[in-house]
This record gives sequence, structure tokens and C-alpha cells, in this order.
Amino acid sequence: MTLFKNTLAFSQEMDRNDSISSFKELFHFPQHKGENCIYFVGNSLGLQPKNVNTYLQEVLDDWKNLGVEGHFHSQKPWWDYHERGSESLAKIVGALPSEVSVMNTLSVNLHLLMVSFYRPTPKKFKIICEHKAFPSDQYLVKSQLRLHGYTPDEALIEVKPQEGRHYLSTQAVLDTLDAHAHETALLFMGGLNYYSGQVLDMKTITAYAKKLGVFVGWDLAHAAGNVPLQLHDWGVDFAAWCSYKYMNAGPGNVSGYYVHEKYHNTADIPRLEGWWGHCKEERFLMKDTFIPEPDAKAWQVSNASVMSIAPYWASLEIFEKAGFDNLIRKQKQLTGYLEFVLDAISKKHNANFELITPKNPKERGSQISVYLHGYGKSVFDHLIQNGVYLDWREPNVIRLAPVPLYNSFEDVFRFGEILSEGLDNTH
Ligand SMILES: *Cc1c(COP(=O)(O)O)cnc(C)c1O
Repeated sequence: MTLFKNTLAFSQEMDRNDSISSFKELFHFPQHKGENCIYFVGNSLGLQPKNVNTYLQEVLDDWKNLGVEGHFHSQKPWWDYHERGSESLAKIVGALPSEVSVMNTLSVNLHLLMVSFYRPTPKKFKIICEHKAFPSDQYLVKSQLRLHGYTPDEALIEVKPQEGRHYLSTQAVLDTLDAHAHETALLFMGGLNYYSGQVLDMKTITAYAKKLGVFVGWDLAHAAGNVPLQLHDWGVDFAAWCSYKYMNAGPGNVSGYYVHEKYHNTADIPRLEGWWGHCKEERFLMKDTFIPEPDAKAWQVSNASVMSIAPYWASLEIFEKAGFDNLIRKQKQLTGYLEFVLDAISKKHNANFELITPKNPKERGSQISVYLHGYGKSVFDHLIQNGVYLDWREPNVIRLAPVPLYNSFEDVFRFGEILSEGLDNTH
């Protein structure tokens, strides 16, 4: 347990002792008055890795020089370009390389996966999800229900936090399963809540739901690249995540997805199919009958979006170099330090800030969400004007995500100083 201090010298010493502090040099930062800004919104859009240029330029050069021949004869042939990062990606989500791939964008992939994993019967047709899920998740679940002839009123079960609490207890999810598993086809939730920053106990919830015969899918938009995952060992049926939050692959970019090995090579699973899901050895024989790839790639529909995937593989190269365990170790310290600094400033100003993120480091990733009770948007504006990137949610919650790959302890200290000035100005 580190004893933190809210001083510049202490934050700089923490940076000197940080074995991965130099990784921030591998990213481009927006500038504020000629210096790197304090970027705490990697939970919305990760910074651009500098090696993205190299990866993209390679594809552009091959296209320029080879035209269509690039599919087979480029430096990294395009026909199986989507497979190149499977090993690294699988490590990050705790899967077998054969269980993951990349295609489309997140919400689209979740719809495609629900074709396979939301298969209602007259007795088991409900979906369990969390109350106030990310809007896209709510829309997709409700439209899936309607597609199958159900109304959300009759078929959607939302698990709520207890009265006065900001996040869910695992027990509440298990109790909901106990009450409703007999009529439920699918449990589908965000593994890390975008608002509260809570990581759900995916292992326990998955095991419980599977035992009760309910399919389990996780939206890992805020979890992938942010918290340790063991999708395969936990027995998760399916999952998908975007690449542009903690995974730093660029705005709106291609999504990763996972399908458990036990569904590979099975004939009885429905799927929306396309030629890139066809067994690759025979793909170009243009036969009438679909022969699926022997793994998660059977869910691919279109040919690989090579120029979208290139930045993703660039980013994964950096994760490999840093080592995910190192990132998590630093994250615990960095986010812990942010919590400490917020507490020190709250006390100094009698501000009564309220963390809505769990205090237990095991129940959160990089993000902390704070209720600035009594303080309005002027504090937020002061932070923005002084080079802090953060996000504001009504009524007065700020979300802060110091990211271990490119944020420093000094960033956290300097943020605290600017926040403190903002509070002074308000009173
Ligand atoms: C960011 C996010 C999305 C975004 O979905 P896209 O299809 O990539 O636009 C979806 N769900 C959750 C939980 C998110 O946090």
C-alpha cells in the first residue's frame, strides 16, 4: 500500500519509479499553450498512437503499388489481415486466438451475435440487462425483442442498484436470475458501466447464469484494454467491444468480438452469414454452399476493412510491449492516486465530493466518476480552459479516466491543482 501525498515532488517520484512511464512518448497529445494537455478521456476516445502512420502507410503503399494483387502479395496480405492481431487481442480479453476476430462496429456486432445467442422460445424469451444501460445497448436489446414479436414491457428485465446506491450489487443480479431464469433467454450487460465506472463480477454472474441455462453476453466497450478479462475460462458465450476507447484505434473504428469455442464447428447455431465467414481455403472457389470457418471467424460477414484494422494492430503492438499486467499494476496506483487527490481537495474546500465509482480497486478500472455536489458547470469550464480533457454528465458528475499507457502521476497532481483553483474561483 503506497502512502500518497498531494505534492508535485511526490507525483514526480511516482513517475520516476514507473517502469512504463515512457510509453506516453508513443502517443500524440492535443496541445494546450504549447504543452501536452491532461487527457483524462481515454474512456471515450483513446489518444492516437504514433505508429498508426506506419501501419496505415504500409497499406496505402501496397494498394498504390499492387492494386488488387495486394490481397495476396502485399507485405501483410489483406485476405487474412483481420487475423494478424488475434493472438494479442485474445490475450487482452482472456480468450483463445480462435475465439476472437474484428469486424464492423460494436453495436452492429452485438446485433449479429444476438442472432445466434438470443433465441427466444415461448417459455424462455426474456432478456436481463442493467438499468440505464448505455443507450445503444438499450436500443439494440429493445429492437431485438420487437423483432421477435415481444414488447420491452413484457420481456425486458432491468436490474437496478439498491435505493440510494449508484452501482449494482452482484447479489442483485444473482437474485434477478433466481427469480427469472426460467423465463429468460439471455443475460446481456455492460461489463464495466460507462457512467459509474463499476466493473461487474463477470465471472460469478456468468457462472450463475450458465448454471441456470441462460445465455450470457457482455458488452465490453469500457472493459477491453482496461480491466483483466478471462472470457474463455469464465464460460462467457459471446462478447464484443469497440477499439476506440481504451484500445486507442481511432474514432468509430472496427470492433472486436468473441464467441466461445464450444459454438465453433456446430451446425445448429443460427447466424447471419457472408463470404468472409466461409472457410478461407475455399473462399475463392465461389461455391454455392456455405462452409463456415472452423472458429469465431465464421461470424465474419464482409471482407476485412483493412484500413480500419491497421490502426488497431498498431495499437496492440504497444499493449504487447507494455505488458497488460504492468498496465493493471500502474492503473491501481494511478487511479488510487486520483481518488486520494480528489479526497484531499474535497476536504480542503469542504466540498463533499461523492465518488459514484466503487472504492474497491477490484470493482473498477481506470475511470472514476465524481458527484461535485454544490458545484456547477463553472468548475468544469475552468478545467477545460486550463487544458484538462474530462467529461461532464448532468446534473454535476465528472468522469475522469487516467490511462496507465499515457497518463502520469504528475498529470493527476496538476489536475488537482487546477481543480482546486476552479473551486476557489467559484466561492
Ligand atoms: C461506446 C459504447 C458503445 C458504442 O457503440 P458503437 O457501435 O461503437 O457506436 C456501445 N455500448 C457501450 C456500452 C459503449 O460504452
